[in-house]
Amino acid sequence: MAEECVFCKIGSGEIPSEFLYRDDLAYVIRDIRPRAPTHLLVIPSEHVTYLASFTNEREALVGHLLLVAREMAQREHLVERGYRLVVNQGPDSGQEVPHLHLHLLGGRQLGAMG
Ligand code: AMP
Repeated sequence: MAEECVFCKIGSGEIPSEFLYRDDLAYVIRDIRPRAPTHLLVIPSEHVTYLASFTNEREALVGHLLLVAREMAQREHLVERGYRLVVNQGPDSGQEVPHLHLHLLGGRQLGAMG
């Protein structure tokens, strides 16, 4: 756990939050500033700053995060209309929280990326 990391604090319960999903490796919350009708964050419990911090041994965790996102998209009834997964990394992406997370966005026409 990184001491000043908001997602570590949410994961440990220090900052109260509603968990939509939780297992041994990851948890899911609603984004506090939603950019779409459904805007969830899929977050590994373990502190990892960037996707670039992952070594090949963590392949299973990366896969797990995607499968959790898939499950949440089903639960939120997004599969038919579609949705978007986003990972921000570093300054050019505008990454605000330096703890890896997947954004799951859906419920409206999302428009072009960029
Ligand atoms: P990123 O720019 O990819 O680092 O995205 C971080 C996201 O975390 C932003 O969309 C924030 O709105 C969201 N966020 C920050 N603090 C919280 C919080 N306490 N609970 C839920 N979402 C948060």
